[in-house]
Amino acid sequence: MNTDPPASGRIVLAGELMLDVLLAPAPHVRAGGGPATMARALSAAGREVTVLGKLGPDQNGRWIAAELAGAGVELPVAPARSRATGYVVMRRQCDPAASPPPGEAAPGTIDRVVYVERGANFLLAPADVEGRLVGRSWLHLSGYCLVDADPAEAAFLLAGEARRAGIPISLDPGVPWAFRGAGSEELLRLFRLGLPGGPDFFLPSGDMAAHLAGETAGSQATGRAARDLAGRFPRVVVKDGPAGAWVGGERAPLGGGQAAAGADISGAGDVWNAAFIAATLDGLFPLEAVARANTQASRYVAGCLARTDAASAGAALAGGAWRSLAWLKVESGEAPLLVSACLAGVASAYDGQARPAPARGPWADSPTRRLGLPVCPEQLGGLPTPREPAEIPQGGGEGVMDGRGRVVDRAGRDVTVAFRKGADRVVELARAVGASLAVLKEGSPSCGVGRIHDGRFRGRQGPGRGVTAAALRQAGVRVTSEEDWT
Ligand code: SF4
Repeated sequence: MNTDPPASGRIVLAGELMLDVLLAPAPHVRAGGGPATMARALSAAGREVTVLGKLGPDQNGRWIAAELAGAGVELPVAPARSRATGYVVMRRQCDPAASPPPGEAAPGTIDRVVYVERGANFLLAPADVEGRLVGRSWLHLSGYCLVDADPAEAAFLLAGEARRAGIPISLDPGVPWAFRGAGSEELLRLFRLGLPGGPDFFLPSGDMAAHLAGETAGSQATGRAARDLAGRFPRVVVKDGPAGAWVGGERAPLGGGQAAAGADISGAGDVWNAAFIAATLDGLFPLEAVARANTQASRYVAGCLARTDAASAGAALAGGAWRSLAWLKVESGEAPLLVSACLAGVASAYDGQARPAPARGPWADSPTRRLGLPVCPEQLGGLPTPREPAEIPQGGGEGVMDGRGRVVDRAGRDVTVAFRKGADRVVELARAVGASLAVLKEGSPSCGVGRIHDGRFRGRQGPGRGVTAAALRQAGVRVTSEEDWT
């Protein structure tokens, strides 16, 4: 374990890269995922930062890459071909009864996650990260890269390289619901990253700390959990939202930072992490580092809440050093539209290829103009890419959704369950974002809008709808094909 970190050198952050979508109620977007938020906060503070994470080849991924490059963040990992950029959709909920006097932050404001699609993050692999720590000063890992097998292997590889090189390692394990089904002992093993003693700095939220210690969330439970965890990792700081933090099991003074009571604003924990790492690199651990982190996170929250009008979320950040963290309003003001991933440049089709995009697709190159969210229902249903082609012998998509029909692949396997699961997930997204329009790939057994193959694998199509197209139509979404936009 390194107790005397070098003060210079790039900080490396590894984990998820997402498009953050905030429905407040008009859509806003920003480059998101914990590492992207931390990277921009660190860059704004004059630190050199590298993010190891995976984007997709779609317009959202290109936009995020440009945003991070514009903020001075290095992004060396090549985008995935076969998965779209991940996205997380949140709703900002304000308690009108809690509206404060002008100039004061609003309590009772919460960003609630309503849909998560991890997308290309699933494909971060050891080869993407190997050897990227040479000359670096710090490694921070997001717990979300421990959810899936390949990214977890990449994280373990990075942790091993960092330990051998004497580079300090911090881990923010994220929220418990991301690790559904995993017990606390299993998670504690995972969060040790295969290292004797685990990461040098373990930075859980109060909720995660309580979960790991088998406590029910609550301020007293957080204190008990913090004391329990202090005996399990070298240095533990439990973030307790507006109440501050626990250091090594002891309550740390807020140190000048006081966020709005009851406010739970997305990104605040990441801004806290960034300030904590920068302060520790400056030699301020532990209480001074925590105090500085509390102050920075409080300022961020206050900036996000300075206007109680939720539609201008982040406006107060736009003119300051954290300009790149501000939410950007989607110009069209319309609900996100859903797009077949293979039409958005993603090689998600059964043959491992993308399909030509329509000449005048209704989504824009930038999600800040009109927001399109790529979906591939067959991937969402758990099918691999590439895969055997599949067809619907009878009943069309409607028949599959009401249990009369089935979907069979060329090898004769019944893949109905996967197709229905994918369709259900797309409908769930449509409802979460209030989508009223989808642009889908014509002829597909999932996405076909007016035609599908006849079920005999002989290259002939007839009238009919794919499973997802039928499900979206039943859910009240207008389904169009790329042929309607050429
Ligand atoms: Fe995926 Fe639909 Fe494209 Fe097939 S047509 S690859 S299911 S998005």
